[in-house]
Amino acid sequence: MRDTSKHQGLRNQLAKSLKNKGISDQKVLDAIRKVPRHLFIDSSFEDHTYRDKAFPIAAGQTISQPYTVAFQSQVLRIRQGDKVLEIGTGSGYQTAVLVAMQAEVYSIERQHELFKKTSLFLPKIGYRPKKLIFGDGYKGFPEKAPFDKVIVTAGAPYIPKALMAQLKVGGKLLIPVGGLTQTMTLLIRTSPKKFEKHELGDFTFVPMLQKKN
Ligand code: SAH
Repeated sequence: MRDTSKHQGLRNQLAKSLKNKGISDQKVLDAIRKVPRHLFIDSSFEDHTYRDKAFPIAAGQTISQPYTVAFQSQVLRIRQGDKVLEIGTGSGYQTAVLVAMQAEVYSIERQHELFKKTSLFLPKIGYRPKKLIFGDGYKGFPEKAPFDKVIVTAGAPYIPKALMAQLKVGGKLLIPVGGLTQTMTLLIRTSPKKFEKHELGDFTFVPMLQKKN
C-alpha cells in the first residue's frame, strides 16, 4: 500500500482535468487530490487509475469514473458535518471522497463480499465513515434519518420513496434514474411534502438491484 510523489502528481493532473471539465468546487478538487485512488483498484490496472475512467472491482461491480464522483459531490454541495447517506459503497472511493470533505457518511452495500472488503480497507488507509451497512439501499437507513444529503451511486429504475422520506427539509437527494443509461436527478426537499426536481444529464451506472441474485 504505497502512495508516492508520482501518484500525488497524477492526482494533481486528474484534478486539473476535472476542473477543465467543469468541476469548480474547491473542496471536491482538494478531495480528489487527496484520496489515493490507485489503492482502490486491482494493482494490474494501477497505471490507468488516474485517468478519468470507470474500472472493474470485485464481484462484477465498478468504481465510478472520477468525473462522476466529482460531479455528484459538487452537485450535493457537501459541507463539513453534513450527514450523508450513500447507496452503493462498492470500492469505497466515493465514500472516501465524502469523508475527505468532512461529511459524516453512512453507506449501504448489498454485496457481502464488497461490504467486507471495503469495511476492512477504508480504515486501513485512514478514512473512517460513521458506518458501513450491509443491506438494501432501497430501504435507506431509517435508524439515522433524516439526512442532509442522499447520494445513490447505482442506476435506479425509479426514485425509492424511503430515500425521499429520509431527507431533511432543505436536504438533497441525488440519484441516477433510468435503464441502461440514466438521467442524473436532483430532488431538493423544500417542505415536508414538497420536492423540487432537476435533471442534470445522462450517466451510466451499474444497476441498483432490487433482490439478491
Ligand atoms: N460508490 C461506488 C460505486 C460502486 S458501483 C464506488 O465509488 O466505487 C454501485 C454499487 O452499488 C455496487 O457495489 C453494487 O453492489 C451496489 N448496489 C446495487 N444495488 C444496491 C442496493 N439495492 N443496495 C445497496 N447497494 C447496491
